[in-house]
Amino acid sequence: MVPELSNSSVCMKDPQRVQQIMQSIRKAGSNTLQVISDFDMTLTRFSHNGKRCPTCHNILDNSKAISTECREKLDTLLKTYYPIEIDTSLSVEEKLPLMVEWWTKAHDLLVEQRIRKDQLAEAVRESDAMLREGYPLFFDHLHEHSIPLLIFSAGIGDILEEVIRQAGVFHSNVNVFSNYMDFDESGVLRAFKGELIHIYNKREGALLNTGHFQELRTRPNVLLLGDSLGDLNMADGVQDMENILKIGFLNDKVEERKQAYLDSYDIVLIKDETLEVPNAIVLYLTGNK
Ligand code: C5P
Ligand code: MG
Repeated sequence: MVPELSNSSVCMKDPQRVQQIMQSIRKAGSNTLQVISDFDMTLTRFSHNGKRCPTCHNILDNSKAISTECREKLDTLLKTYYPIEIDTSLSVEEKLPLMVEWWTKAHDLLVEQRIRKDQLAEAVRESDAMLREGYPLFFDHLHEHSIPLLIFSAGIGDILEEVIRQAGVFHSNVNVFSNYMDFDESGVLRAFKGELIHIYNKREGALLNTGHFQELRTRPNVLLLGDSLGDLNMADGVQDMENILKIGFLNDKVEERKQAYLDSYDIVLIKDETLEVPNAIVLYLTGNK
C-alpha cells in the first residue's frame, strides 16, 4: 500500500492494524482528516552531520539576544533537565514537577534578558534549526488539500512561527498552540502568555482549546505526529474521533525507549531525520497514491 513502510527506520507492533486505520481514513476522504503535530524534534531535525539541532528554546538560548552569563545558566538547565526528560527509569508523575521547574526557570531567565521582538527573526535566521527533509511536500500538500494542520508545541510559539515563516510554509491551514511571548508597548519581552505548555500537559492544553476542535468537528480522522510520549495526548480535544494514526519519531535513547514507543505509537520511526514516511502516508490518505 505504502512501500515506504518497509523502510529500515520503520517499526510497527501491529502492521495489520496500521493498514486498517489507513484504509478507513482514505475511504472517509481527505475532507474528514485533520493533522496534529508536535514541533521540536518532530517537524524539525534532531541531528544533522552528527550534531544536535536546536529546539525553539535553544534557538533563543544560542542567539545574540542572550548574554553569555545567561546562556551558561540556560545550558546548565538543559544539561540537568533534558536527561530527566528522556529517563526511562522515572515515571511521568516523577518527571512532571521537574519539567515544570525547567520551563519555569528557563522562561524566567529569558524574561530577565529584556529580549526585543525584533530580535527573533535574526535569532532564527542565524540558528542551525532545520525542518526535516521533505517538509515542503508535507506542508504544501496539506495546504493544497485544505487539511488543517495543528502544530502543538511546548516550545516557543513566536520562534516556531518564525521558523516556518522563513521556510515559506506558514500556510493558512496552519494553527499553532504553544507558549507565546508577551511584549510590552516598546516591544520588550515581559512574560509568557497564558497557561504554560510543557511536555506532559498537552492534554490540558488541548482541553483549553475546545473552540478549535469544535470548528473541526466534521473531521473525525486524525494523523498525529510526535517524538515524546507526552505528544500522544495532543488529540485529546478532538471531538467524536473515529480513527487516529499515530506516528512517533524515536530520536534518542532508542534501545531503552523502543518498547514503550511501539506500545503507544502505531508507527515508530527510528533515527529517521526525514518526513519521507509521513509524506507517503499523507499522500495515501488523501488518495494521491
Ligand atoms: O515542540 P515540543 O513540544 O517538542 O517542545 C518541547 C521541547 O523543548 C522538549 O522536548 C524539550 O527538550 C525542549 N526544551 C528546551 N529548553 C527548555 C525547555 C524545553 O530545549 N528550556
Ligand atoms: Mg518534540
